Amino acid sequence: MKEEYQRVYAEINLDAVRNNMDHMKANVLPDTKILGVIKTDGYGHGAVPIAKELEPLDYMFGFAVATAEEAFILRHNGITKPILLLGYTFPYSYEKLLLEEIRIAVFRYDMLKELAKTYASLVKEGICKKAKVHIKVDTGMSRIGIRPDEEGLRFVQKVFETDGIEVEGIFTHFARADEEDKTAANRQLKLFSDFISKIKERTGKEIPVKHCSNSAGIIELPAANMDVVRAGIALYGLWPSEQVSREIVKLTPVLSLYSHIVYIKEIEAGTSVSYGGTFTAQERMRIATIPVGYGDGYARSLSGKGYVLLHGKKAPILGRVCMDQFMVDVSNIPEAMEGDKVTLIGADGDEKITMEQLGELSGRFNYEFACDIGKRVPRVYTKGGKILYTRDYYQDF
Ligand SMILES: *Cc1c(COP(=O)(O)O)cnc(C)c1O
Repeated sequence: MKEEYQRVYAEINLDAVRNNMDHMKANVLPDTKILGVIKTDGYGHGAVPIAKELEPLDYMFGFAVATAEEAFILRHNGITKPILLLGYTFPYSYEKLLLEEIRIAVFRYDMLKELAKTYASLVKEGICKKAKVHIKVDTGMSRIGIRPDEEGLRFVQKVFETDGIEVEGIFTHFARADEEDKTAANRQLKLFSDFISKIKERTGKEIPVKHCSNSAGIIELPAANMDVVRAGIALYGLWPSEQVSREIVKLTPVLSLYSHIVYIKEIEAGTSVSYGGTFTAQERMRIATIPVGYGDGYARSLSGKGYVLLHGKKAPILGRVCMDQFMVDVSNIPEAMEGDKVTLIGADGDEKITMEQLGELSGRFNYEFACDIGKRVPRVYTKGGKILYTRDYYQDF
């Protein structure tokens, strides 16, 4: 391991990514393909390495991201499969998106007009690149998308009639597929399926790529397998919610977070630890300082609640987590020494700490915890137990 990475690093296990994906694929229909959702730099895991790992798989339809820039980064790094932008896309990026064949989610008339304009101006330059779009339908999120009603049908008709637009797909998004009670999700599924039938009736056209499932849907809603499913959180070996069954699809956490002890000392009874003196020793204690903090995305709300693993044992956090450091109790781990490896997320011996547990302890969402692991944390990518490559943002500082 590089010496610069001793302070903290996240290990990303690409074998686990592959296994999680294979297990999800085994749980959907043979013809259903998968869109890997790698927005927010792959939920903090690194979008490019994950896309490179998954792109060669036949069952991968492509990738989905949230912003034009995230899509450009993938193309820039040689990803050639379809990329879909899940959110609203601002017109400044349309020309480049068309050139790069990045798919846009459409649901506003002015988007169609702008896309047609962009197409026409490219044609003038002798470039014929149609805008490939996926129509976004709002069946219950009330976030973005056309409503599955008469007005929605008029919109779809307009998309078909717009010069320079090729309708590749149509999709919707579940608001509550991660709940045990699937009533709401099934209601959305029905609205979506009925709308697709109506489109066919009205226009005579079949849209090739229909999709609605997220990770929770992939695991628990087999009826929602269509042409494509969108795998996000489960790709990283994390769970959509505590209500989703752990028995159906086997997932392995992809990310582990490690640091090293930088200081150990004994403190007397009555000594307080960290800002605000929220923890005061009641007896003589041995404490270790870990050089990681909320500046790395290690939530401050873990203050006095979280723990790390050392020599396969739990060491609880004492007092507040600072921006760059925090202290843990090693009174019961006499073998702990300065320089020892510390596990902040991952397994050590028989113990483990998951992103879900940290989410729970910090009052945050596991998705959020993953996304927030910051730029200051280098990523180390492993495959077959070996380091494949590393990535850090040190040059940016
Ligand atoms: C983020 C997102 C997903 C992935 O959801 P997971 O719960 O992470 O699987 C799928 N579809 C859309 C539209 C999204 O925004």
